[in-house]
Amino acid sequence: MKKILLDIKSSTVKLGVTLLLLLFLPMLLYSVYQVLQKNSDEQMIRNIYTRQLNTILFSINQYCWDQYRMWATTFIDRLSADVDPSLQTINKEPLSEFVEKYPFCKGTFFRLKDKPPVFYFSDGDHPTDDKISDKDRTQYLFKIIDSRQEDLNRLIQNAESGYLKPLVIDWILNRNVPITLILFPLNSSNQFQQGDLGGIFLMNKPFIKNMLSRQMLSILTENLIMGVYHEQEDRVIFATSDKLISPFDRVESLWLIPDHQLVIKSAGTTLQELAQKRTRQNLILLGAVNLLILLGIIIFLYNIHQQMRLAQMKTDFVANVSHELRTPLSLIRLYAETLEMGRSKDPIKIKTYYRTIVQESQRLSQLINNILDFSKIESKRKRYQFIPTQLEHILNDVLEMYTYRLNKLDVHLEKEIRQSIPDLYLDKDAITQVMINLLENGIKFSPGEKIIKINIQRLNDNVVFGITDKGIGIPSSEQRLIFNKFYRVGSSLVHDTKGSGLGLTLVKHIMQVHGGRVTVESQLHQGSTFSLIFPILNEPPQK
Ligand code: ADP
Repeated sequence: MKKILLDIKSSTVKLGVTLLLLLFLPMLLYSVYQVLQKNSDEQMIRNIYTRQLNTILFSINQYCWDQYRMWATTFIDRLSADVDPSLQTINKEPLSEFVEKYPFCKGTFFRLKDKPPVFYFSDGDHPTDDKISDKDRTQYLFKIIDSRQEDLNRLIQNAESGYLKPLVIDWILNRNVPITLILFPLNSSNQFQQGDLGGIFLMNKPFIKNMLSRQMLSILTENLIMGVYHEQEDRVIFATSDKLISPFDRVESLWLIPDHQLVIKSAGTTLQELAQKRTRQNLILLGAVNLLILLGIIIFLYNIHQQMRLAQMKTDFVANVSHELRTPLSLIRLYAETLEMGRSKDPIKIKTYYRTIVQESQRLSQLINNILDFSKIESKRKRYQFIPTQLEHILNDVLEMYTYRLNKLDVHLEKEIRQSIPDLYLDKDAITQVMINLLENGIKFSPGEKIIKINIQRLNDNVVFGITDKGIGIPSSEQRLIFNKFYRVGSSLVHDTKGSGLGLTLVKHIMQVHGGRVTVESQLHQGSTFSLIFPILNEPPQK
């Protein structure tokens, strides 16, 4: 039996390994590949996203650059038309015209080489510091020119070839309105010489709020927010939405205004977060698929294992039953022949022969009954007839039938019925069979002294029939299984004891039909007690 079970186990293991290799391993490898791939996918998406943001920021700076070029050319053209190079007469009209035209422009100036600069500042809606005189402005401008001489020279060189790059300077002279001076050489026009300079005083806030913002909104997609961050003040001074808070996804210097940065971030879920979420979902799904496959394999293997076991049990059953049939049959034949030939004249012996024949045929019919009943139950053909009966009467009939066998096997039997027990709705044949099976098991599995105790008692609304032996007992791990069809405990002692593995299956079924149940309490090497629990019913059980 052990060897057969081992064979079943090893076949199941082989099947399991094959399934694992065929189904689970490829899936697992694919999952591992996906996990490894995850990082590079995320990196790729991050790169695409960053590039997209960079392009947007670049286009804003490009817009500033285009604006500046337009202002500078307009400014230089207007100036070259109207300014007297000798500065005999000072005409501020080109300057004021420019300032009036562009509301974000606070003032303009030009300076011809070696001449003092000419400023024009509007009073407009945006007050500047009144106390600042042109003298202060000139001084500050010269300071800037001195400190940035090298840069200016390069710009002047560039302007020769028509390239109009400016210097952008934080014009800190006006305290109450932040202003940027956009300083550029004038020598791109033939009217002016090298060293002639012009400049536009740009009011940062109006420019950002009125012009830059429009540009930002026109190019922004729904899921992005953008703004301008002031480094020194350490705050966002303009944003397309109030949700713009640090950290930002990308930061780029605002080319036209010093110390200002263009910042951008995603409004809701970023592409990256979305990708992460998607990958996470994919991985969870993969994990679940893996788990399901594994579970499927386990259930499949379990079923296969059960089927193999059942098939093995059926084979054992056929072998056991054949043996069980052969033994009583040969005994019956032997004694019948002896009697027929009249070989023995001893009346005591003759009586023993008859007894043996009766007893062996009893065992035979019990076995055949079990098998037939089992087959009827399996095909749902078994019918029952419930008649109010005293349990004790059935027990007495069984014991009477078994007297000779019990005496012969030297069984010590105790019967205890203390209370009066009500009639129960019972199918007499079925309950007889139940009792015989339990009694036979008690005897069969008591290799040494055979002590059987039977009691019938009333417990609340039940009548309990208990049968106790002092036999080999049943391991607790197998107590649940012994009621399964063909199941026999795996010990060698049981193996040597013949049986079909059907007796307890029938007991369990018959008890269920009676609306009751069977329980077992057992300790290895100490013995077992089987209890039949019958409910006291007012009408026949419905089955
Ligand atoms: P069978 O007796 O023909 O083997 P059963 O269905 O009656 O089949 O019993 C199933 C198994 O339960 C037995 O093979 C045996 O291992 C165990 N068993 C049943 N009754 C007892 C008992 N009284 N003591 C020990 N083991 C028992």
